[in-house]
Amino acid sequence: MKLIQIGKEQVPAIGLGTYQLTGKEGELAISNAIRIGYRHLDTAQFYRNEEIVGNAVRKSGKERKEIFITTKIWPSDFTKRNFIPKVEQSLRELNAGYIDLLLLHWPGNDSSNDLACELLNDCIQKGYTRLVGVSNFSMAQLKRAQSLMPVFCNQVEYNPYTNQQEMVEYGSENNLLITAYTPLARGKVNKDAALISMGEKYGKSPAQIALRWFLQQKNVSPIPKAGNEKHLKENMDVEDFKLTEEDMKTIFNLCI
Ligand code: NAP
Repeated sequence: MKLIQIGKEQVPAIGLGTYQLTGKEGELAISNAIRIGYRHLDTAQFYRNEEIVGNAVRKSGKERKEIFITTKIWPSDFTKRNFIPKVEQSLRELNAGYIDLLLLHWPGNDSSNDLACELLNDCIQKGYTRLVGVSNFSMAQLKRAQSLMPVFCNQVEYNPYTNQQEMVEYGSENNLLITAYTPLARGKVNKDAALISMGEKYGKSPAQIALRWFLQQKNVSPIPKAGNEKHLKENMDVEDFKLTEEDMKTIFNLCI
């Protein structure tokens, strides 16, 4: 499994998105994912599934440090009264000792973002999380956050139909993880003529072509969601081929 090196940290490049994985079925999918080899799990308070993510991690028999867990706090909780209790709620739900990466899920207003950054620093001090970051932050909001806390990551929507060139270049030059959410455009990639024909050339599915495209970009970590075991396996099986520069360009041009 490709690891992305950010400072002293190594993050498994492909993570599992867990939005809409809930209940017994969701827990089974997350357990299957860990058995297949996923070591990076993306959840959020908003997904209401932190408990099953934690269950799957504990039941996996893997050591806690082998699995990288991200969770996120919703902007309405960027207040003095709510923020720390909400993080403590995540810690209880996950029941995994600590969080690896704690993110602000969406920006709030400028002053609540500032407050939340200060409170994330406190979360590091308290040992609640090892790393902190943001999600859906613009370049200006990201730079402001970096002046207030050690930002490790910005998680943004990124797939062949969204242009994140500026953010990806900034991440690459500034040692930031850029986590790509909705990397398969919710399945749309599978109907894309260019990706289908490229897939035929490499003997891979269109989803695998898209995921390989991310892996060939510095510091970019796609987190495809899959409930289906065939999809889970397929999404991890993207390390035995390499896209040519020309094919990389063709995919970059899909968002134009
Ligand atoms: P996605 O990962 O782009 O697409 C998921 C869909 O693709 C599911 O319907 C899944 O089907 C299907 N799929 C997965 N692998 C496939 C394959 N190999 N072939 C064909 N279809 C495949 O969309 P997403 O769930 O929106 O995004 C992924 C994760 O990003 C979320 O789960 C969440 O963790 C995160 N996210 C974060 C934010 C944020 O604001 N930070 C926003 C949205 C999402 P099955 O489930 O049936 O396998």
